[in-house]
Amino acid sequence: MRELLLVRYGEIFLKGLNRPVFLRALVKRVKRAVQDLGATVYLHDSRIFVTDYTDQEEAIRRISKVFGVHSLCPAVEMPKEDFDAVAAQAVAMMADLRGTFKVTARRSDKRYPIDSPKINGEIGHRVLVANRNLSVDVKNPDHVMNVEIRDQAYLYVKVVPAVGGMPVGTNGRATLLLSGGIDSPVAGWMIAKRGVHINAVHFHSYPYTSDRAKEKVLDLARILSESCCGIRVHIVPFTKIQMEIHEKCPDEYTTLIMRRFMMRIAERVAQSENSEALITGESIGQVASQTMTALNTTNMVVDMPVFRPLIGFDKTEIIAIAEKIGTMETSSLPYEDCCTVFTPRHPATHPKMDKILEGESKLDVEGLIQEALDGIEIVTC
Ligand code: ATP
Ligand code: MG
Repeated sequence: MRELLLVRYGEIFLKGLNRPVFLRALVKRVKRAVQDLGATVYLHDSRIFVTDYTDQEEAIRRISKVFGVHSLCPAVEMPKEDFDAVAAQAVAMMADLRGTFKVTARRSDKRYPIDSPKINGEIGHRVLVANRNLSVDVKNPDHVMNVEIRDQAYLYVKVVPAVGGMPVGTNGRATLLLSGGIDSPVAGWMIAKRGVHINAVHFHSYPYTSDRAKEKVLDLARILSESCCGIRVHIVPFTKIQMEIHEKCPDEYTTLIMRRFMMRIAERVAQSENSEALITGESIGQVASQTMTALNTTNMVVDMPVFRPLIGFDKTEIIAIAEKIGTMETSSLPYEDCCTVFTPRHPATHPKMDKILEGESKLDVEGLIQEALDGIEIVTC
């Protein structure tokens, strides 16, 4: 007899002939999450099993964050031949529980001499006799004792919900514009959840923004990395571009022109990373640079699709996700961002294209982009 974790997947079930590909990807991601706990991860009988870990609680915490995992169950695996031993194990696993329960047996080994209704009745009876704090409710029980008769018997009561989604890497790559704010980490998480392997670009305005501001962004990338499986963060020196814009362009247009630079540079980075899309944390009307007109002026400098998964979300809804995924606390740290340092007092909310182009005509756009690209530092989180 031994303890193990049964990992259950959700949407991969929908995949027909491709299912093995998705399953292999998921096994790889689960392995990566728990390898330093000494765990063994393997696929057996179209199930993912995790065994031999040094710390079950930590293994559960980490696996529940792996995209593609729907839920996981701490289970006991034991020989099925001795039914009395199986029933005794079920009784032991229910010993501390109160409320209502039922037993759900599944018998994939049809040669097993006791059928499922009989297993339910027999184990249910023994649990009732042993634990006076439990009563039976087959419709809406507090606890379900699952007994699966396969090559061996598997017993579990607890089901830990996990994050869901698709295994990272099964749906291509995309580049996230990652600031130190609340929104962009959430945006990246949402796209990665659909199986997209993300990398990131961060614009850093040293010395106007400090090393601690940069560290904060890397910390956010590390938190995301628990689900997103390794994020390469491209740190782009952005000070010169901001100074030039500040000096030569009309004040109310500096933010938009700056954002157009960000998009252009992010697209070049994305191409170098074989990404197929950009991701931002924008939502309609949240700030002046996110009115629809403003979004259109920043969108038009790139050819790549730009995914904005938060486009229709209120700030309170975004914060709720940030809290759930564990980025909120770090995002709330008070270090300055390159956008806040150079913010104009009256940014244009209905920008005129000719004014933007006029401003940009005073700059060596291509030269500035090239210089920024040449100064990129890459950190893998
Ligand atoms: P966030 O909370 O993600 O910082 P925000 O509400 O502060 O968003 P903006 O500052 O207008 O909004 O930025 C909009 C989007 O542009 C961000 O969600 C992010 O994708 C990108 N962005 C902003 N600043 C940076 C930066 N310094 N580096 C990389 N991307 C950035
Ligand atoms: Mg921001």
